[in-house]
Amino acid sequence: MTVKMNGADLLVEALKANGVKNVYGLVGIPVTDVSRLMEMEGIHFYAFRREDAAVEAAAAAGYLTGRPGIALTVSAPGFLNGLVALKEATENCWPVIMISGSSDRALVDMDRGEYEGMDQYNAAKPFCKAAFRIDKPEDVGLGVARAIRAAIGGRPGGVYLDVPGEMLGQMLDPSIDPASTIHVPVDPAPAQFPSDEAVKRAVDILTSAKRPAILLGKGAAYAKAEDQIRDLVSSTSIPFLPMSMAKGIIPDGDKNSAAAARSLSLGSADVILLLGCRLNWLLSNGASPKPFSEDVKFIQVDIDGQEIDSNRHIAAPLVGDMVSVLSKFVPAVKAAGYKAPQDWLDKIAEKKASNVEKMSKAEEAGKGKEPMGFYGAMLPIRDLIADNPDTYLVSEGANTLDIGRDVIDIFQPRHRLDTGTWGVMGVGLPYAIATAVETGRPVIDLAGDSAFGFDGMETETVCRYHLPVIVVVCNNGGIYNGKDPEIDGMVSPTYLDPSGQYDLLSRAFGGRAYCVRTYQEMEDALKEAYASKEPTVINAVLDPNMGKESGHIGHLNPVIFHQDGPVDLPSEK
Ligand code: ADP
Ligand code: MG
Repeated sequence: MTVKMNGADLLVEALKANGVKNVYGLVGIPVTDVSRLMEMEGIHFYAFRREDAAVEAAAAAGYLTGRPGIALTVSAPGFLNGLVALKEATENCWPVIMISGSSDRALVDMDRGEYEGMDQYNAAKPFCKAAFRIDKPEDVGLGVARAIRAAIGGRPGGVYLDVPGEMLGQMLDPSIDPASTIHVPVDPAPAQFPSDEAVKRAVDILTSAKRPAILLGKGAAYAKAEDQIRDLVSSTSIPFLPMSMAKGIIPDGDKNSAAAARSLSLGSADVILLLGCRLNWLLSNGASPKPFSEDVKFIQVDIDGQEIDSNRHIAAPLVGDMVSVLSKFVPAVKAAGYKAPQDWLDKIAEKKASNVEKMSKAEEAGKGKEPMGFYGAMLPIRDLIADNPDTYLVSEGANTLDIGRDVIDIFQPRHRLDTGTWGVMGVGLPYAIATAVETGRPVIDLAGDSAFGFDGMETETVCRYHLPVIVVVCNNGGIYNGKDPEIDGMVSPTYLDPSGQYDLLSRAFGGRAYCVRTYQEMEDALKEAYASKEPTVINAVLDPNMGKESGHIGHLNPVIFHQDGPVDLPSEK
């Protein structure tokens, strides 16, 4: 550490001391030099084209690593662009720290017209888990430590750290030893165990179940509890269903997976164990008789006690971190010698078999379709990931998201990242970039043509850093579909140019570009791109008639009128 230090030096030192290796951001006044200092101190700074993408990337890094992802933005407009992603991360329960430079507070507070002036600290508060403003260089270490603890302690979430430009340039009082200001928090995400009584209550309920099921959520994936969950399921044969980002905690296709008999298993279960998944809108807020029966008993494991009873009565809450909770719960269930009843497993197996047969027929038909539908574009991805299970999949869109979730199996935990709890578009490239950076593995970003439009310019970022990211744009010429280019002589609000050459965006920045119209062309392009490890965009031109309004969640529209296009698979299982 140099002896004379200003706020910017101390910020970089504090991040370094806390093991930060990568920062995602977009520079300008007053943080450009902070990013340069980071690189001089060995921290990789990944520069994005828009702040929301940078903060999304940092959030994905947080999810994948279990350490807070770090993002850096400029003041007011940059801050506000990033804020949406900070809120998304908080909704997803992903740990991220958004650091934003801010303008002169004396000018801002007197409303004198400061350059990019805004009271960012107070604006951020409703949109994150915690916010801190560092006013003095000697507080930088403390601010970083508090932000880390807030981001990963308890339920993870987004933290805002305001760094005024003035403070960044201010020298630390020479009488203070800079090293003494740096804090590394001890045990920032402490283990939290439930009581023996709570464990016994849950074990008693589960082991008396006649029709048990387990719902896995991304909280279980984040907690890295896969070994315990695999042990629980394989020793009891309890059917499990993963939420989209929980796919891979246990490999899809495992014999205990009930994903292909979702309605039956959720609707008929008498006991459901929720592992890191909320009964929010994604599960119809726990409604009866669909998806859950009236008298089902829930056991819920969650790190946040306030989550319990938020939608349905929870018969047995297990509040604590997943790994600690399961370290008590799984041995107790195994000691009870519990096995899921065979008649229940037979019923699920029968339903699975008939649904799988329907699916494979639809898949075969999909392969032959010209122009292709979603299957033509997705089956090659499915096969590639089956052959290379340590490939990551990122996905966004409506039909693209929904169909891809059903069609593409995931075999390893945290290998699928998608639009998440808020259903946000524009996360595909940022998540893919962070995934490639943090894991060093190839990533396939499967996006709808509308979704790609939100963040397509980050293709340049992928190319600039030479990341092994293959973007597949499912181009059906519109939001939901492109079947109605006009309404009463005007351009339809849901229509997008189906002849758009999205692949050329990659070529513009030195990446690979493919335009494919059939299953076979898609398969060939994907294999070639994957082998090359080079940045790629594949424009998969689909039949514009393909796609339902809002995909699987059309019922959420307060519908006046809408016309569905066909989909090439049975949507209800
Ligand atoms: P999904 O969308 O996959 O159903 P959610 O994001 O709705 O998952 O739910 C994740 C839940 O996991 C949140 O309620 C969160 O509090 C919880 N959670 C996050 N980390 C942990 C952890 N380490 N242990 C237990 N629960 C956790
Ligand atoms: Mg589309």
